[in-house]
Amino acid sequence: MNYNVNEKGYYGDFGGAFIPEMLYPNVAELRDNYLEITGRADFKKEFENLLKVYVGRPTPLYFASRLSEKYKTKIYLKREDLCHTGAHKVNNTIGQILLAKRLGKNRIIAETGAGQHGVATATVCALMGIECIVYMGELDIHRQAPNVARMKMLGAEVRSAKSGSKTLKDATNEAIRDWINNPIDTHYIIGSVVGPHPYPDMVARFQSVISEETKWQLEEQEGRDYPNHVIACVGGGSNAAGLYYHYLNDERVNIIAIEAAGKGIDSGQSAATSALGKEGIIHGSKTLLMQSSDGQITEPYSISAGLDYPGVGPMHAHLFRSKRAEFISIPDQEAMDWGLTLSQTEGIIPAIETAHAFAVLDVRKFGLEEIIVFNCSGRGDKDLSTYIDYFKL
Ligand SMILES: *Cc1c(COP(=O)(O)O)cnc(C)c1O
Repeated sequence: MNYNVNEKGYYGDFGGAFIPEMLYPNVAELRDNYLEITGRADFKKEFENLLKVYVGRPTPLYFASRLSEKYKTKIYLKREDLCHTGAHKVNNTIGQILLAKRLGKNRIIAETGAGQHGVATATVCALMGIECIVYMGELDIHRQAPNVARMKMLGAEVRSAKSGSKTLKDATNEAIRDWINNPIDTHYIIGSVVGPHPYPDMVARFQSVISEETKWQLEEQEGRDYPNHVIACVGGGSNAAGLYYHYLNDERVNIIAIEAAGKGIDSGQSAATSALGKEGIIHGSKTLLMQSSDGQITEPYSISAGLDYPGVGPMHAHLFRSKRAEFISIPDQEAMDWGLTLSQTEGIIPAIETAHAFAVLDVRKFGLEEIIVFNCSGRGDKDLSTYIDYFKL
């Protein structure tokens, strides 16, 4: 079984590029060039250098001794929360802006829901002195005011999407419309392992630095370069893809994916795609997504904005269907409790997305000698007001 993308842009039954004809030239330009450009020595040198001196990589692989003692197993945290801007998303935006420059683009567009990807995009555009336009649903602009302010401080223009539900999918539609109208000078930076081929593979490759580092860091600390389990939360699936990447074909490593069950899988308010999703097409790729019996995409829900997505990337749909990965969904309440537990056991305040992953420790047994690596995808600063309201802090 192959868990990477094939030459047609598919992961098993999933992936591909289901796009309007008007978008074809843009996506084809990317598809025909991304491997050649990202394989060049000058690209690798600039990418690796920026990850080091700007993002702050390598991020530590931290042995969580108190947590390990409590759960009677060996727990490591890959500290993506220590990246510049507070999460893994910047690994991808750095990679894509370097690619965009080499394709001769001088204008960047992006879509954002919670604003995290918008901030990571605005950051690298400021770094490179490139024009940046971020599409965001009108409702999200109101809900995520601090991130809107960050994007504006960084010099980005935030354009409000006023159609439909005024959220992420409407922002995505606006961004696609923009790209169709500006095919020559504009690159569209997608924020997760979603969208038409080559985006899922391209983003996974940029994020794969996470498992590349994990391998040598584990070798240093444990004398072997692989753990028994890799565990990450899945919204679109980019931080998970980064942690899994170099272990995808290593059967000694069990892969665990954590989704948001929101108010419960059967509540009608969740983002538990693997449990509820059916095959369909979203954002240009064939994958699993939550939809009604007549194929309308269901509005997802999670207390964490980053997991509030009705699909998963095609790599994850394939990992689920082929049973290579275990999928578990965690409700809001358990995730919030883990926000506190991790804070008070290890002194690390996680993003609410990240907190979902740790809740697996309460629902699944791990052995005393087993090594587990959690992706600590982001820090909790952005979620402080949610934590304050929830715990009456
Ligand atoms: C955006 C985000 C996620 C979810 O996105 P993926 O593409 O699934 O990684 C998870 N954690 C944090 C901290 C995020 O900002």
